[in-house]
Amino acid sequence: MSTGKSEILHNIALVGHAGAGKTTIAEALLSATGTISNAGSIESGNTVCDFDPQEIELNHSIDTALCHFEHRGKRVNIIDTPGYPDFLGRSISILPAVETAAVVINAETGIEISTRRMMRVAKARKLCRMIIINKIDSRGTDLAALVGEIRELFGKICLPLNLPADAGKKVADCFFKPSDAKADFSSVSAAHTEIIDQVVEVDEALMELYLEQGEDLSPEQLHDPFEKALREGHLVPICFVSAKTGAGIKQLLHILTALMPAPTEGNPQPFLKGEGDDARPVELTPDDSAHAIAHVFKVAVDPYVGKMGVFRVHQGRITPASQLFIGDARKPFKVNHLYRLQGKEHKQVAEAIPGDLCAVAKVEDIHFDAVLHDSHDENHFHLKSMNLPPPMAGLAVKPRQRGTEQKLSDALHKLAAEDPSMVIEHNATANETVIRGLGEMHLKFLMEKMRERYNVDIETHLPSIEYRETVTKAADGHHRHKKQTGGAGQFGEVFLKIEPLQRGEGFEFVNKVVGGSIPSQFIPAVEKGVREVLSHGAVAGYPVEDVRVVVYDGKHHSVDSKEVAFVAAGKKAFMDAISKARPIVLEPIAEVEITAPSDSMGNITGELSGLRGRIKGNTALPGNRVIIESEVPVSELGNFPTRLKSLTGGSGSFTMEFARYEQVPPQTQKQLESGWKQPAEAH
Ligand code: GDP
Repeated sequence: MSTGKSEILHNIALVGHAGAGKTTIAEALLSATGTISNAGSIESGNTVCDFDPQEIELNHSIDTALCHFEHRGKRVNIIDTPGYPDFLGRSISILPAVETAAVVINAETGIEISTRRMMRVAKARKLCRMIIINKIDSRGTDLAALVGEIRELFGKICLPLNLPADAGKKVADCFFKPSDAKADFSSVSAAHTEIIDQVVEVDEALMELYLEQGEDLSPEQLHDPFEKALREGHLVPICFVSAKTGAGIKQLLHILTALMPAPTEGNPQPFLKGEGDDARPVELTPDDSAHAIAHVFKVAVDPYVGKMGVFRVHQGRITPASQLFIGDARKPFKVNHLYRLQGKEHKQVAEAIPGDLCAVAKVEDIHFDAVLHDSHDENHFHLKSMNLPPPMAGLAVKPRQRGTEQKLSDALHKLAAEDPSMVIEHNATANETVIRGLGEMHLKFLMEKMRERYNVDIETHLPSIEYRETVTKAADGHHRHKKQTGGAGQFGEVFLKIEPLQRGEGFEFVNKVVGGSIPSQFIPAVEKGVREVLSHGAVAGYPVEDVRVVVYDGKHHSVDSKEVAFVAAGKKAFMDAISKARPIVLEPIAEVEITAPSDSMGNITGELSGLRGRIKGNTALPGNRVIIESEVPVSELGNFPTRLKSLTGGSGSFTMEFARYEQVPPQTQKQLESGWKQPAEAH
């Protein structure tokens, strides 16, 4: 099949916890449709979607991968995603490319941390959702209880479309043509009634018909309301499979192509046009005759074709002859080669229509989250922020060999272009390059890539803590700068006031000088002096935040007043005010979410209190596991990954996100103050 209309397309993201079987399901679907001749396996390291050497070595997905197959005149694009919390940023970042998030749950381990997270994120992005319960071949699983837990946690909108039968060797359809087969639990007819009842609730006319006619609504009559129920989050269908034995795979294929939405049926992605406050929501229609608009949801570096931008077409048509602009760029690039991805393979295609997932290669400026379009009328387009988890775990890096700084910097930027959850920071206070990611495993993976792909030899250490300074009360400050050294003198005098602001409000500079006591041309000089202190600190050498400075008076001299004099006076007056405004040092606090075996909970909470942590709550998970939510100062977390490993026998994991800044204990403040020497006087 070449390309056709968008109605024949289905885009599905397989999401959920690591080990649930997402990659194996993709493999089973490819094999069932004859796309590949034999299904590979995780154990043999030959699946279509896990092709990175690190993925094969670690036996799990690290990056997202695309594959596609055709079935009964439809084309289904699958995006396989990693499930470890450390790589969830990558899984979340591809969601704008699909209509459906299929959350895969491992029947053996039940609902896990990434299951909850992805169900939540997909709902917030208004995606249609479905749940695939995999590994129904496993002995000793209580699938009835699992369905109960799913409905308790995610709502009564979660309803089975089929049920396992014959001890998990097959599944019994409860929707299209409910059979009289005996299911392993519950009953086919009860499940059928429940799902029809749920669907007709969104269509009054059909509801009336249903009440009059009884149960005899055909799948065709139910199609449109089914789509509506999915779109409105009124229904989350559940289906059962074993990717290993193939049970339920044929039925899953039928469900994906007959029931899950096409690009014309899903909720459109929330695009905005305009800048800042003027940005207004725009709904793109999957119309292939309109201007082309596509969104880059992934950037990958292919060993043969180089940097690839993988995008979804939301409107219009793209061909190799298309000239596309990246965002507001003035000059377009020519597509030349348009690719469709199948794992690590890529095939050239002649066009991409709305809903298609395609790639272009060797376009240097392409970046994650870029909007591509073919007309300047479509400038200032962007997708509503995806609220990716902010990367918190950090590692300071430097090259082992002198003179390779540039190579390190280039390699870091190339890696960051591929990874929406990697951030490169420069900590000016400590003169450190710090890379931030979502956790220890993520950082380890990035370091490995630096060595393996870019051949950079690096040294790492824990980054310095990014303390801040602020004040706790208002105070006045004053300085008269006067220098008389032979020739021309220097004169400037400043009176100012400092006031604390709320946490996170930053810095405000207000000029309230009246009557020209400081001539207006010198006010920027006063501000410059103040800003010098702002970046270098006043008590312990850390940036000053959350303060308002009001300059309200001063004096000048008609000959000796010059810029340097007011810079110096502004700086000293500000230091004077800070010293009287009870300055404090602030430290970053992280929200830390730990998943661990329930019996290690006591030890973990003990460890956290030793780290000045606060426990906010805990939730029991199926399979004797628990989630502990806490807040801990970042300065205490340096050794935490190792401690957690030893407290949980290696089976605990955690994620951390920046929460806020808080005052350090008095003892720490004393230590930080005593270790700081003010920079030498510049003037
Ligand atoms: P992913 O991390 O969600 O992509 O999960 P994988 O596809 O990598 O599978 C994790 C492990 O579960 C592998 O060892 C698979 O062989 C195994 N697995 C996948 N599907 C099934 C299944 O249906 N039944 C059983 N028993 N094992 C499975």
